[in-house]
Amino acid sequence: MANRQEAWRAPLPQNGVPRTDEVSDSESEESEDASGSDQEEPSWISWFCSLRGNEFFCEVDEEYIEDDFNLSGLSTQVPYYEYALDMILDNEPPQDVLLTDQQHELLESAAEMLYGLIHARYIVTARGLACMLEKFKNYEFGRCPRFYCEGQACLPVGTADVPGQSTVKIFCPKCEDIFYPRSEYQCSIDGAYFGTTFPHLLLMTYPMYRPPKSVEQYVPRIFGFKLHPSAYGNREPAPARNTQRRIAPREPVAKEGMQKQEDESL
Ligand SMILES: [Zn+2]
Repeated sequence: MANRQEAWRAPLPQNGVPRTDEVSDSESEESEDASGSDQEEPSWISWFCSLRGNEFFCEVDEEYIEDDFNLSGLSTQVPYYEYALDMILDNEPPQDVLLTDQQHELLESAAEMLYGLIHARYIVTARGLACMLEKFKNYEFGRCPRFYCEGQACLPVGTADVPGQSTVKIFCPKCEDIFYPRSEYQCSIDGAYFGTTFPHLLLMTYPMYRPPKSVEQYVPRIFGFKLHPSAYGNREPAPARNTQRRIAPREPVAKEGMQKQEDESL
């Protein structure tokens, strides 16, 4: 994939230790790289959202990310928080920080996690909802695989709000069930980057996009006949039929009891 964060990389990880004394090499490297047509690099956010498997993500406004209030609590959840934030916002790395490949990989996954957690907050704001609505209208989150839902557009949803619990699913507003996304790349994305609230808040905010509930239900049949509930592997013997009720009236004690009850009722 594109090494778009070259500036963060150590020039030569000779001993596995970042070289902090040689700093300005990256500029000359950039000018060499610029011989191609990619002179204007997209922002980190655009690049990240364009990666295969990241189609469910919308581009979070940088203004939103720059407001510390929106990020409260995230610094304790994400490793290398400050660096990850700088990476997301395309800020130049501090001059004394050059990373080995291994550190760079760790930082990239931290940036991904931080972006995901910011994303989960952003998509329940008015702007985030509007952005995701456009994607919903374009079927970018996929369609419901259930036949009777007739290709209903779905919305991404998490089954947990804490990262690392489960991957993202798609929610069908017609049958109100959740499914695995079709792409294996999307199947590996953390569900917490979308959260448990998002699709329901979107449909509450834009009720006109809420489809009528699916009423048709598939009925299993064998040779045209519906299946009785006991048809599947019910191998237990049939319950004994009222044997006690037949015997009981013959017992004199029971008769007495019955008479007593009748007397009392009189
Ligand atoms: Zn459905």
